[in-house]
Amino acid sequence: MDCLFCKIINGELPANKVYDDDLVVAFDDIAPKAPHHKLIVPKVHIATLNDLDKNHNPLLGHMIHTASVIAKDLGVAENGYRTIFNCNKDAGQVVFHIHLHLLAGRPMPGMTQ
Ligand code: 5GP
Ligand code: ZN
Repeated sequence: MDCLFCKIINGELPANKVYDDDLVVAFDDIAPKAPHHKLIVPKVHIATLNDLDKNHNPLLGHMIHTASVIAKDLGVAENGYRTIFNCNKDAGQVVFHIHLHLLAGRPMPGMTQ
């Protein structure tokens, strides 16, 4: 399958991996939007959030928990961090293999406006 993140997962393309287990891998975003910008990616190919079914719920929980583990490892958990899933074009999704962004290391603009 011609998927960038599947290729990173199977080692065809390089990435700076910061976490790896049976279900997920996490690596540095190639174009970081914050001092720390990691992507938490499931090893199974799921194109968008719209392709999830309830059997994926434990996997999604694991992705979010992994973000918190990485944040603690980075030493940013207390100051805080932002996690984001983008879905389809209005959100700016460009890689169609779901991934959780973990952004930290600077204050993030509020989302209340
Ligand atoms: P999206 O907009 O789909 O939610 O985010 C995709 C993210 O993947 C972007 O932040 C982009 O910088 C990152 N990205 C795109 N291509 C690569 C790549 O080849 N390697 C890595 N590590 N990140 C990538
Ligand atoms: Zn994929």
